[in-house]
Amino acid sequence: MGVQALYALQNGFIGFERSGLFYGQLSGEPVQIPVTCYLIRASDATILFDTGFSPRAIPGLLRTDPLARFGDEDLLVHRLDALGLEPGSVDLVVLSHLHYDHAGGAALFPTSELIVQQDEYAYAHYPAACCASFYYRKNFDLPGYRWRLLDGDAELAPGITALRSDGHTPGHQSLLVELPQTGPVILAGDCCYWQESIDRETPPGVVWDPTRAMHSIKRLKTIARLTGGRIFPSHDPAFWATAVKSPDAYR
Ligand SMILES: [Zn+2]
Repeated sequence: MGVQALYALQNGFIGFERSGLFYGQLSGEPVQIPVTCYLIRASDATILFDTGFSPRAIPGLLRTDPLARFGDEDLLVHRLDALGLEPGSVDLVVLSHLHYDHAGGAALFPTSELIVQQDEYAYAHYPAACCASFYYRKNFDLPGYRWRLLDGDAELAPGITALRSDGHTPGHQSLLVELPQTGPVILAGDCCYWQESIDRETPPGVVWDPTRAMHSIKRLKTIARLTGGRIFPSHDPAFWATAVKSPDAYR
């Protein structure tokens, strides 16, 4: 019972400056980074963590970003289809935060429950000028959709726990997934962009509060250590190259 499998879903690649990846770095050198989502099969629920880009955004990305790479198979609906799923089969959609490369596909899930921290939901509607370019209101202003707004950590299903990890944004969350064979995995979301962010406890360059972001990295590391678990970063090309990708799964 409980969690059965964790599928890593690729949602294409984009270019991003190193200064945006690592707090305190000034290099404008662009790096190609993956955009990732995860599908979890549990005995009593099917759960998606993050939704990648809106399909509407893809043509513009491919036109303006020389490092953008996006195949037809990278569309979230096609990734789900390859697992025999359609959006209506997903019970819970957990959004780490509402930036456009994580919440872009939320509109695909009118019958699922969309789960986000209430501070993130509130901030995304009225972001400060510094952070506004990462929030596209169309992605999350979805009348009639079923939102569940969390205030901190919450067990969502047996073996699946939302962990508050703010700093990158005001209401960021990560997801602890307790797998039967692999053991605990923490899907960090943008709390940890790269393995280097974890090792050096470096907040993202795109950050709302760098001190809180650093403490959230430390918190995930502590939970990983105490549970014997692993942290999966969100946008690390080296991690992604070695990750077990869907249709294969962590079990
Ligand atoms: Zn983000």
